[in-house]
Amino acid sequence: MDIYTDIKRLASQLKISNFSIPEIRVEKNAILHIRELIKRKQWKNIVAVYDQNTYLAAGEKLIKFLMNDFEEVIGININENEHGQVIANEESLVQVFIKTPNDADVLIAVGSGTIHDIVRFVGHKMNIPFISVPTAASVDGFTSKGAPLILRGVKQTIQTAAPIAVFADIDVIKAAPREMAAAGFGDILGKYTSLLDWEISKLVGNEPFHEGAASLTRKALETCVEYVEEISNADEKGIKILMNALIESGLVMQILDYSRPASGAEHHLSHYWEMYLLKTNQKQLLHGAKVGVATTMIVELYKKNWKKLLRSERIKNTVYGNGIEQYGEYIFSVIEKLPTPDELKKLLEKVGGPTTVEELGIPQEVVIESLNEAYHLRDRCTGLLLLNQIKETPIRL
Ligand SMILES: [Zn+2]
Repeated sequence: MDIYTDIKRLASQLKISNFSIPEIRVEKNAILHIRELIKRKQWKNIVAVYDQNTYLAAGEKLIKFLMNDFEEVIGININENEHGQVIANEESLVQVFIKTPNDADVLIAVGSGTIHDIVRFVGHKMNIPFISVPTAASVDGFTSKGAPLILRGVKQTIQTAAPIAVFADIDVIKAAPREMAAAGFGDILGKYTSLLDWEISKLVGNEPFHEGAASLTRKALETCVEYVEEISNADEKGIKILMNALIESGLVMQILDYSRPASGAEHHLSHYWEMYLLKTNQKQLLHGAKVGVATTMIVELYKKNWKKLLRSERIKNTVYGNGIEQYGEYIFSVIEKLPTPDELKKLLEKVGGPTTVEELGIPQEVVIESLNEAYHLRDRCTGLLLLNQIKETPIRL
């Protein structure tokens, strides 16, 4: 089974007839195929966007190679902030807006998630299609439409455009720092709780759910866990498996037009921590590194506290009372089957990712705050939201 077949089937299940699946290449020298696509489309004016690191990883090679065939190739090197990081904020957006000619035919995002978010927003606003060239297997957002942006210091996810093609060069991705693939694996591991929360939201919150979409995301998760050894070795097989899982998870979000299968309470904790780092003007952490650690915490929280929810008188008086009465035991049986927090930590450790909030550098008080406040970040029913309904004292682990 490949991504095209999976996604085509999901589109037909969802009765979406006009979904165009991007061209996807996850292979050695994948970027060399960009030329064929550009020629086929008869595009002339090309803009490649990268940062200092991704220029060295792939941008330089790409620009030189395109210049052989096309006259108008512009490179935009997004400036780093004081922490040496590229942030998807107003400054970066304006830099790309100013340097992109109005008659550009295509934008190429060369980099990790942040560069993609900047490019997808600009491309969407200027009505220019964009091509994805991931330089690391770090996140599942490459193929989704959502662009998490930092606007006036606050994170906001805006639905924009998905890439028309993804050219993931295996040699480039293999050479990326190990922490990047560890973050991608952490983002995938988060599906244990995001899928559970999605099911909870269907059963208890009466929110929309789609079994086919859930099972594709689950398959991406299970494949990565099965091949953790190969992913940890960053060999060709492992990197292909991880990259394909990330691409597929992104496509599922894109086709649904919402992120529920891939984002639950673990992402809410991660967003909360990200906001804390922004407010205190600290260096940002990799998205998937936070999600991986948050997943171990959410699993621990649910395993320790779900029974309390079933016994709670308080929940009966909420809109969730009936759902808990009817499905609470079943949900508990699903929680029981999740890996333990220690098993999850071992998996993260195996790929070289952080396993604790201490390693991430998030202070205990912020962690406790997030357990008690982060559910407000999105209007979504999750186990975390439900546990917050019955608490008598602040939730802690
Ligand atoms: Zn994520």
